[in-house]
Amino acid sequence: MTPLVGAVDSALFGNVVGQPLALTVLGQALQRGSAHAYLLHGPRGVGKTDAAYAFAAGLLCPDGGCCHCDHCRRARSGVHVDLETVAPDGSSILIDQIRQLTLDAAMRPYEAARRVYVILEAETMTEPAANAFLKTLEEPPSHARFVLVSSAPERLLPTVVSRCQRVPFFRTPAKALAAHLGSRYGLRAEDAWALARVAQGDLSYAEALTHSQSVREDRVLVLSLARELPSAGFARVQGMADEVMAMLGRRVAAAVACVEDQKTCEMEWAADARARSRVEKAFDVRLRREKRAAVQAGIDHVISGSAGWFRDLAVVAAGAEETVHNFDYLAELREDGLPGLLSSYLEVIAAAKRTKERFRYNVDTRCSLEHMLFSMKEALL
Ligand SMILES: [Zn+2]
Repeated sequence: MTPLVGAVDSALFGNVVGQPLALTVLGQALQRGSAHAYLLHGPRGVGKTDAAYAFAAGLLCPDGGCCHCDHCRRARSGVHVDLETVAPDGSSILIDQIRQLTLDAAMRPYEAARRVYVILEAETMTEPAANAFLKTLEEPPSHARFVLVSSAPERLLPTVVSRCQRVPFFRTPAKALAAHLGSRYGLRAEDAWALARVAQGDLSYAEALTHSQSVREDRVLVLSLARELPSAGFARVQGMADEVMAMLGRRVAAAVACVEDQKTCEMEWAADARARSRVEKAFDVRLRREKRAAVQAGIDHVISGSAGWFRDLAVVAAGAEETVHNFDYLAELREDGLPGLLSSYLEVIAAAKRTKERFRYNVDTRCSLEHMLFSMKEALL
């Protein structure tokens, strides 16, 4: 087998952890010549977007991704003149965005040998948008490269998928995750291992738990709400929904501050008015995306965190403590877990997961949250 990523500078994909198959496919594409379209797919939080921009840098850099030149730097920040990001406008990627992409892709590259289109949350393309995109994929301009990113590839048109080289990402293995937390953040082995268990293969969540006090506080909040839920009355459940909404608000504010910082930094690099306007445009798109992503990640965290609590209660009730995820809460789990409630715990987990789709399609987050909490409570009765 070809060595992982081969001659491509391994620092190029340095932010991607424990994904040897994906990095082999992308590394070989950079060395041996690339197809027109790639689909990076797999669960959220495992490094697909970072990999997409690193791959774009490899496609735009004259040295195939040296990691040091100005092409690489700008591509990885998403502001290269020959790189466009397409992301949902609201909840979908619309046909007008694809029409714009098609017109744009017909133009020659400005600085690099190619033009690269990173399409985030590609599964949110509306049907007309997906059909229009399919036409572009059927006869792509020779210099155009499309990098689709999706955590729900089953929702993409099969004809779009079949025209892309698939690049699979998986949940980051706990061992690789723990090793990464140890080497990058200097965590002690047992702490790194505990966090890897809590994060359940979600690299971004594991990293956030490591370096962000507020993310650790959010986890405590979600676990304490889940713990309180069985005995909470109607008004208290509504209060819980308020607390979660406040948490989502804090996450959005933190995401906005982070994007603004990066924008300020990129503005300092921008040489002229045209470069500055590109930075403005790229960061407008990114700001919208990051706000949505902050809410989505917060909701995912509430669903998986509260379902995870009842999962651990079920595990303790079934006498399998060694497989508990929230190991730092073992004493509380022993106190709360009742063997007679095993089937109710499983019902609660199912109820929490059923609400996932509701969040995707319902614009009223608070209403969906209340619905989730009440359905979980009902499952316990
Ligand atoms: Zn370079």
